[in-house]
Amino acid sequence: MSFVAEYRKHTEERAKLGIPPIPLNAKQAAELVELLKQVPIIDEDYLMDLFLNRINPGVDEAAYVKAAFLNDIIQGKAFSPAISPKRAVQILGTMIGGYNVKPLIDALSHKDEEIAQEAANALKNILLVYDAFNDIVELAKTNKYAKQVLESWANAEWFLNKPPAAEKITVTVFKVPGETNTDDLSPASEAFTRSDIPLHALSMLKAKMPDAIEKINELKKKGYPVAFVGDVVGTGSSRKSAANSVMWHMGRDIPYVPNKRTGAVVIGGIIAPIFFNTVEDSGGLPIEADVSKLEMGDVIDIYPYEGKIVKNGEVVATFKMKPNTIFDEYRAGGRIPLIIGRNLTRKAREVLGLGEENIFTKPEQPADTGKGYTLAQKIVGKACGLKGVRPGMYVEPQVSTVGSQDTTGLMTRDEIVELAALGFSADFVLQSFCHTAAYPKPADIKMYHTLPPFIISRGGVSLKPGDGVIHSWLNRMVLPDTVGTGGDSHTRFPIGISFPAGSGLVAFAAVTGTMPLVMPESVLVRFKGELQPGVTLRDLVNAIPYFAIKQGLLTVEKKGKKNVFNGRILEIEGLPNLKVEQAFELADASAERSAAACTVRLNKEPVIEFIQSNIKLIEAMIKAGYQDARTLQRRADKMKAWLDNPVLLEPDEDAEYAAIIEIDLNEIKEPIVACPNDPDDVATLSEVLADERRPKNIDEVFVGSCQTNIGHYRALGEILRGEGQVPTRLWVVPPTKMDQRMLMEEGYYSIYGAAGARTEVPGCSLCMGNQARVRDGATVFSTSTRNFDNRMGKDAKVYLGSAELAAVCAILGRLPTVEEYMNIVKSKIIGKEDKVYKYLNFHLLDDEMVDMLVRDSLLPIYQLSYV
Ligand code: SF4
Repeated sequence: MSFVAEYRKHTEERAKLGIPPIPLNAKQAAELVELLKQVPIIDEDYLMDLFLNRINPGVDEAAYVKAAFLNDIIQGKAFSPAISPKRAVQILGTMIGGYNVKPLIDALSHKDEEIAQEAANALKNILLVYDAFNDIVELAKTNKYAKQVLESWANAEWFLNKPPAAEKITVTVFKVPGETNTDDLSPASEAFTRSDIPLHALSMLKAKMPDAIEKINELKKKGYPVAFVGDVVGTGSSRKSAANSVMWHMGRDIPYVPNKRTGAVVIGGIIAPIFFNTVEDSGGLPIEADVSKLEMGDVIDIYPYEGKIVKNGEVVATFKMKPNTIFDEYRAGGRIPLIIGRNLTRKAREVLGLGEENIFTKPEQPADTGKGYTLAQKIVGKACGLKGVRPGMYVEPQVSTVGSQDTTGLMTRDEIVELAALGFSADFVLQSFCHTAAYPKPADIKMYHTLPPFIISRGGVSLKPGDGVIHSWLNRMVLPDTVGTGGDSHTRFPIGISFPAGSGLVAFAAVTGTMPLVMPESVLVRFKGELQPGVTLRDLVNAIPYFAIKQGLLTVEKKGKKNVFNGRILEIEGLPNLKVEQAFELADASAERSAAACTVRLNKEPVIEFIQSNIKLIEAMIKAGYQDARTLQRRADKMKAWLDNPVLLEPDEDAEYAAIIEIDLNEIKEPIVACPNDPDDVATLSEVLADERRPKNIDEVFVGSCQTNIGHYRALGEILRGEGQVPTRLWVVPPTKMDQRMLMEEGYYSIYGAAGARTEVPGCSLCMGNQARVRDGATVFSTSTRNFDNRMGKDAKVYLGSAELAAVCAILGRLPTVEEYMNIVKSKIIGKEDKVYKYLNFHLLDDEMVDMLVRDSLLPIYQLSYV
């Protein structure tokens, strides 16, 4: 079948689903080019539509084919009856940046002045030029068209040519009551379709509101754009696919960019911070306002500048748009284009000797209180060349470490392509495959072969499927007191600080080495007293919401929910001697608090130990062939440099916090768990047992996720030892292959086997719930991070707590009494703590052992080489 016939067939199949075809790949683009060279062109209108509208711009391989063909036409080396040289320049001008930039710069010197002028007109509106900026500066010395481009950038014509947000926006309300998390908007079970935005968008709300798509389509018939409205919107993971799906259903097309939309309005009583940012980055309009008077199908007028929502002539809600630059972001097509464009304008003005522009809204900066800084404020300050930053300050800190995982990796790749970037400026970028490695689909296998070379060729480091969970690796790559980000909401460094983000911002941070940030306020959690016997760190994780609820700073109820942590930085102190692996248990769970980030104040000794261990790990990775080796070596060298002068930042005594929560360890005498199905719904074990609403029998137990470290698996093993087969379905999934291998060496796997446990490839497993799942309706005890409805299994009821309590539940098939739990822990663990809670200190192992742990994957099919 010819390419055209095939593509038409594909288009028809997709049309049956109500979605457009996927964009052309490079091979298809090359075939299209040949058809456009024919005289006459058969079916010219259709083919030109494909050429104009169905090829991704940027540095997509198909864009390369398109740009090269257009360049050949301009240079007289190719001919198409449908595309004149002038038209070729115009089409290049629609390609956003990347492969179109050089042909356009070359065209500035074309002997035909009309073509040169067209090229200048095109370049004036192109922002993604990176180093080509310097070529324009050089050319502008002798070429009037290049000078025009420079002047246009300096005057921000790229921005001023776009219409500002309207005074009044009329929309039809699509309301989802209660809380809508990102898994509702972009289900984990459909993660494999995320980079295909229209297809993935079909799964939006499929569990929560099965007729959602029909409803949206029906509402569109009222003739207005549809706005997403909810009480609490976008909690949960950082997946940008959630915003993509909302944009797809409720936004407008972006000219010449296939299968992507922008500009949707999202109104939420609370909009979770990362989701708020991803809506901003997508060119949408996020509005936090009271939604109690908005109902499904209402036609409302939004007055964004006046901050009011009018229904039937009556003001039903007022709001203040934030940040103060939001209107510029909306006008520019999103926060990222605005930042890139603003920098381009600034650079052009510097070259031309013009003063500071007065075109863009300046980010609001708070008054300096003159008080001290918190740890987070100092770490971010350091990344900005400042002593500290105040809450509310807009800054663009240097981002030294960036993480990308597999279910968002392809979206991040697409965003990098859209940013037209062929290299990373961030010092260390890491890609993992932890969410899909256990049971890969064909699309995943394809990704394992294509994504690593993409990352490595840009200077990033790629893990391999089966290596384990992103955070358990990424934490080991982090430099103390530095800033990072990652496309996974649990990117929460135990040392330094990380602001997790959607894939658009992650791509931006990787490409530019900076990220936009409005510094959040901080909430201090201060532990004091002594950890009581039988109480674990996981119980302290749950103690944070437990004590916040007691102080009236957090509510479980969604309607009018109070959450002191929402969008703020959770800063934890009072446990300075925790190992860094343990500190991550606390930091990781800041995601469940909807905190923007987390710091854990540690003494330097555990950090020194961790860094020494990680240098050894990185060197073993290089030996084992991990790439990009130069990036790995650079990171090891920086770690060594830190060890030469191991000083950690500390908060000032008079630093200011939005709230301070004191937790007395002496008051915590028993396990605390998060109850089905809300990580905020925490209770002590005895409270759970006394509560008739709570299920007591446990069907399945999961010990796994990034919340765990090797100590948890030894504790599990010790409790299971000698107990024979357990009555529950027990899942055991260590976070990394090094943990897994070490546990095998130590004999723990034989204990899991004797218990009848199901062990899986190191990775996310049930925590993500996108592959293996618990039985429908099962009651589960899990060590994983979150227990949102349907995440782990359909209608599953999930408790979250420690590995120790999980092990006891596995043996008993029910929640134990506090006494039972204490007795088992006392007899099985107490006295063996030094052996059980011992972490992977690679620098204390001999070379042969470290090499084996790092080199060997137990799954031969995953021993892929990306050299
Ligand atoms: S283990 Fe769970 S929380 Fe951690 S990265 Fe994987 S899915 Fe996310």
